[in-house]
Amino acid sequence: MNFRADAAYAAQLDQDDPLAHYREQFHVPRHADGEEIYLCGNSLGLQPKTVERYLREELEDWQQLAVKAHFAGRRPWMPYNELLTAKTAHLAGAEPQEVVNMNSLTANLHLMLVSFYRPTKARHRILIERGAFPSDRYAATSQILFHGFDPDTSLVEIAPRDGRATLDMDEVESVIRAEGERLALVLLPGVQYYSGQAFDVARLTRAAHAVGAVAGFDLAHAAGNLPLQLHDWDADFAVWCSYKYLNAGPGAVAGCFVHARHARDFERPRFAGWWGHDKSTRFHMDPEFVPMEGAQGWQLSNPPILALAPLLASLEIFDEAGMQRLREKSLRLTGYLEFLLDERLADEVEILTPRNPAERGCQLSLRLRGSARRAREIFRQLEERFVTADWREPDVIRVAPVPLYNTYTDVYRFVKILEVVLSAGK
Ligand SMILES: *Cc1c(COP(=O)(O)O)cnc(C)c1O
Repeated sequence: MNFRADAAYAAQLDQDDPLAHYREQFHVPRHADGEEIYLCGNSLGLQPKTVERYLREELEDWQQLAVKAHFAGRRPWMPYNELLTAKTAHLAGAEPQEVVNMNSLTANLHLMLVSFYRPTKARHRILIERGAFPSDRYAATSQILFHGFDPDTSLVEIAPRDGRATLDMDEVESVIRAEGERLALVLLPGVQYYSGQAFDVARLTRAAHAVGAVAGFDLAHAAGNLPLQLHDWDADFAVWCSYKYLNAGPGAVAGCFVHARHARDFERPRFAGWWGHDKSTRFHMDPEFVPMEGAQGWQLSNPPILALAPLLASLEIFDEAGMQRLREKSLRLTGYLEFLLDERLADEVEILTPRNPAERGCQLSLRLRGSARRAREIFRQLEERFVTADWREPDVIRVAPVPLYNTYTDVYRFVKILEVVLSAGK
């Protein structure tokens, strides 16, 4: 793409952006003189303006109808979850029965591991990355211990070579092949939270299946960031949270995918609850658990309506905008950020995220050259100038221009401010 490094050009890109109007559907944090430059949607997405109304309507139904709102509410609570199913399926590239919104990410990961990590003496290893998000690592390690195995021998960690920030997919594949029949399960990210690297889910799934292992993915940084094709990619399960790119609010209800081939795996162990019971007989209150087919069969409890309402509001926006169109803008928006950094700050800023757009989402992870202490100080000064990005120890700033609500001018102004702060700090 041919970009130019001046403000008028950024304004022109905004003018030509067919998705520009979506920004008006979000609350952008403000300061005395205007809007923040919010580049932190990878950590907490902005609030859709429709959330307030959706929540208020549920509060009103609760006030006026109380228990009757389960059936008589304007969005009846009993099947409320189903309002989200088709939209979630679109987002995940899945069949409706393959997805469900429930619990939180780590809780769903445990539920999936309970069912899909079935270690034996011969096959008990879990492959994760050395730099995995701590919660994923804790979940995998505690599951290994729960089954009476030893993480020292059952947890296999793969790290980038030679101090690099990203993993080579060839190498991951060859580790999977080398582990072979000892490997029970592969747990990898869709997009790596620290480096922003996108993993090749389809390819890694094929590699895992070729050795007889289960392929599970954490899509915390992929959901709402990249178009997903989980069904075709053939992953066994996937989990994600909804408060990052999915804009559903702090601690939002999380997503879960179980491939259709497991939809009727009723023999597979699972931790069960009444909301996973066949909904046509759920209220017969029978002692015997009869799971629903598909991902919904892993539900435990009746869903938290007040927490689902923001997710519904947000998924409606995604459904309308469409992940393909969002991805097209995202490629250009992040490409523009990369261009400006290279053009103006190549001596100061190292981009850790892959340079190939196909191997990343919207986030770029930046390492400022010089000491970590100086980088921390630069980050502080960015915050003083109303730039919200995100700091990761020891010296990385993650910057995520989100196609739904960020503008090319946001990106332009961010680089301009970074330039000012860096040159003042010399
Ligand atoms: C954000 C994130 C989490 C957070 O887990 P919660 O259960 O939602 O608190 C876990 N794993 C990864 C990879 C993440 O990026």
